[in-house]
Amino acid sequence: MAKKQSATVREHASQPSADPAPGIPPRVFQQTVEQADVAISITDVQGAILYVNSAFTRITGYSATEAIGRNESILSNKTTPPEVYKSLWQNISHGEAWSGRLVNRRKDGSRYLAELTISPVLDAGGTVLNYLGMHRDLTEVHRLECQVKNQKALIESVVDAAPIVVALLDVDDRVVLDNQEYKKLQADLGMADPAPMLMTAIRAGLEIETAAGRSASGYAFLDREVRLDLPGGKPPRWFSCSGSRVCEDDSAADAFFVGGGRHYLLLVAKDISGLRAQQEKARVAALQVVMADEGRVSALRESLSAAVFRLEGPLNMMDSVASMLARRAGGNDPMALALAEAMAAGQQALTELRAMIPAETREPSGAINVNELLRDVLDLTTNRLLAAGIRVRWKPQAMLPLLQGYPNKLRTLFKALVDNAIEAMNGRGWIERELLLMTRAQLGSIEIVIEDSGPGIPLEQQIKVFEPFYTTKREGGRGREHLGTGLATAQQVAADHGGTIEIDPSPAKGCRVRVVLPVKGRA
Ligand code: FAD
Repeated sequence: MAKKQSATVREHASQPSADPAPGIPPRVFQQTVEQADVAISITDVQGAILYVNSAFTRITGYSATEAIGRNESILSNKTTPPEVYKSLWQNISHGEAWSGRLVNRRKDGSRYLAELTISPVLDAGGTVLNYLGMHRDLTEVHRLECQVKNQKALIESVVDAAPIVVALLDVDDRVVLDNQEYKKLQADLGMADPAPMLMTAIRAGLEIETAAGRSASGYAFLDREVRLDLPGGKPPRWFSCSGSRVCEDDSAADAFFVGGGRHYLLLVAKDISGLRAQQEKARVAALQVVMADEGRVSALRESLSAAVFRLEGPLNMMDSVASMLARRAGGNDPMALALAEAMAAGQQALTELRAMIPAETREPSGAINVNELLRDVLDLTTNRLLAAGIRVRWKPQAMLPLLQGYPNKLRTLFKALVDNAIEAMNGRGWIERELLLMTRAQLGSIEIVIEDSGPGIPLEQQIKVFEPFYTTKREGGRGREHLGTGLATAQQVAADHGGTIEIDPSPAKGCRVRVVLPVKGRA
């Protein structure tokens, strides 16, 4: 029976008019099919097997004698959905090839996943004569595919459930994979992509570590602390960030021998805002003490400087009068002598007074986050702001470049401006009480705007207020508190940092002070 049916196939195969491979004897074709490493079967139009090769026997367990004459359905495990067979037969009976996966059962009852392709064999008129089936055992490949899929799902669910921000970034800092915490961060910050911003901040303080040792442990960077300032009075957020390099093999065919692949950075950011908030609280409390001390010393310095300044005027006048008298009387006038004596005593007192002026404390310069300083100032003045019923609009740029400078001096500068603003709005009966603090990075510098809704400074006084010992607050019984050195000192501090401070000449309302500090200042 096997011989007869094989002959039928040979009969059909000999029908085409032109020999497709002249010079190759039909025996070679037969041997090729017989020895091919894929299970090959040839059936009639009902699916009854006419021929099987040795790979078919090896995969299915059916010898040629056992298989020939039986329907291919002997391989069916009866678990492949009927629709699959329907589609299979619909295609092949219309002369079209079909490929798909079926669950097959071997002669010994074991199952395997078959990847099957059936090609109809047609006569010259297009009528289906036979079917050529080729299949291979795909069980192992399928197992590996499932394993990869399962692992991916597992990793994704672990990453998603992790209580830390995880994002995989490509070389342009674009997020290619993220987790729930990252999505939460996006919502909290109200921005589509916080990762590039985090990376900018990390890189700003990173240069050394990237190049040196740490990459050896697999990390591009480890535990970098980054601060993000949020608008609308929300407390700043702190993240401890680590990044490790990930390389994905190139799956393209032309990379098979040459290798290569894409590089990614796995960014992991842990929210440490709670911990930092506690530390900040302690730091601000300590700062409060230090600043109060410094305030007292600075008030003493200002008072003594003011006293020296004020005494210098009359002494200079006395000096002129003494010189005049001496010229007139030729040096023997007792009045002139008494005046000269008084003058000498006065100068001596002045020298002693100057010596009493406490020296300025020297502080080391360092990298400064201006948002942090302004936040300090807000923390330090919270009680006064609340007591005065002032609404604060805090509009920091979420991420500012660091600038080189003296933190205490700059803090004092901003505090002086905020103190001025509070005082301006805290007048009796003043209704509008709003303080705006805004920061913005410009090309090579940082702009800080402090704006109040107080009565403002008249245009003609806007330059004078920067002169030492000039004050607009002398009247009203409170003048003694103001020596008029606040803005002069603030201007000096800005200048020490290579920056400027100016009053907007025409604000919509109140007083708007603009401080511009270069990122690479002189400090
Ligand atoms: P069946 O009752 O045989 O058929 C199920 C459905 O298939 C029917 O409802 C009908 O829609 C369709 N059908 C069956 N026979 C025909 C036909 N002659 N013309 C049109 N529609 C038809 N099956 C496997 O499970 N594993 C294999 O490895 C496999 N290899 C094959 C290789 C070749 C070359 C061919 C032609 C078929 C192969 N088949 C294979 C399909 C096989 O012939 C059966 O159709 C299938 O196994 C379903 O068998 P069954 O007894 O469960 O259902």
